[in-house]
Amino acid sequence: MKAMGPLPPEWQADLRFAAHTPEDLAAQSGGTPLFVYDRAVIRARIAQFRSAFPGIALHYAIKANPFGPLLAFMSSEVDGFDLASAGELQKLQAAGAGDRPVSFAGPGKTGADMSAGLAAAVTFNLESEEEWTSLRRIAARDSVRPRVAVRVNPPFGLKGSGMKMGGLASPFGVDHDRVPALVRRIIDEGGDWRGLHVYAGSQSLSADAIIDGQRATVALAAEIAAEVGVTPPEVNLGGGFGIPYFAGDQPLDIVAVGAALKQTLDQRPAILRDTNFVIELGRWLVGEAGVYLTRVVDRKVSRGRTFLVTDGGLQHMLAASGNFGQLLRRNYPVAVANRFGAEAEEEVTVVGCLCTPLDLLADEITLPRAEVGDLIAIFCAGAYGLTASPQGFLSMPAAREVLV
Ligand SMILES: *Cc1c(COP(=O)(O)O)cnc(C)c1O
Repeated sequence: MKAMGPLPPEWQADLRFAAHTPEDLAAQSGGTPLFVYDRAVIRARIAQFRSAFPGIALHYAIKANPFGPLLAFMSSEVDGFDLASAGELQKLQAAGAGDRPVSFAGPGKTGADMSAGLAAAVTFNLESEEEWTSLRRIAARDSVRPRVAVRVNPPFGLKGSGMKMGGLASPFGVDHDRVPALVRRIIDEGGDWRGLHVYAGSQSLSADAIIDGQRATVALAAEIAAEVGVTPPEVNLGGGFGIPYFAGDQPLDIVAVGAALKQTLDQRPAILRDTNFVIELGRWLVGEAGVYLTRVVDRKVSRGRTFLVTDGGLQHMLAASGNFGQLLRRNYPVAVANRFGAEAEEEVTVVGCLCTPLDLLADEITLPRAEVGDLIAIFCAGAYGLTASPQGFLSMPAAREVLV
């Protein structure tokens, strides 16, 4: 038997989505596979954030989940959005959520991306000096004054994070020692300088690592500001808050992070006194709010092992499969959705319907007995689920999505 990750707290006792059973939702949505996103869970996370980080602006990083109804919902809950492409800007506008402050990060912005961003008055988080040269030219052509912040490639990374994005040679951000000169140039060349952005990593469950990162970020922002001699209107501290996916993972202690950040900001250098601080989060806000529902279409025993073959798979939920053959694959939290709470009685391996052994959704876990027609729930599917999966692979039917 192999272990699986912990269920999100909202679903440890009962599996309902705004009073709907999983079966009801699957029927109402036209079938499975289905991603369900639950507003109540997102609201609970936002309330936790507000109480731990009073006075800090909260931005939603769209790339975690760009589902239109979710963006529309978010527009009344968060203080702004962070884009990583012009396509995300279109989705935000289509969802009617385009009137919030928006920042646009990500390397390789094209002229068309810049033009779209300028028309929407976004703040560009510049990833290089060259990007400023291009943006300035396009802004002059379009007769607008560009709003720009500089993304800093810091001399440190987020320790223990799933994806380290600082302290290295990097396509992201401008090396910290070159930032003051670029900021001077932006100001001298008529740009509307909005501040600094530091994003040093993702999926960290360590409060200490995040606390250290935020402390170092505030200190670095103060150094850069002092060298430029101008107060940045805004400093985006990044995020990187993780969620528990696997056995043994403990939730991030955001109360501790919030208390430490308050202390850091209470003692900040005078040049940052009038700066507004922002935290941008994707996964932590929406990851635990999503459940992937997939139906058992075959049950078979092979050489003593029981396989539940479902109508879903890695084409919708790549991360649960172990990302195309990850060296150390671990199980996401999984349940039999229509027999939730029933006693676990057999060891099964849950697979998708793709013709590859990599299409593994849960390996040798213990579940209540499930038959053909039963529903399997895979938790922690709200962030980097459908949007981060190879939906074209094997030309299988699209997954449905619903926000409840
Ligand atoms: C991906 C990304 C985020 C969101 O990361 P999460 O781990 O989902 O919180 C935030 N900011 C930037 C710049 C990103 O690239």
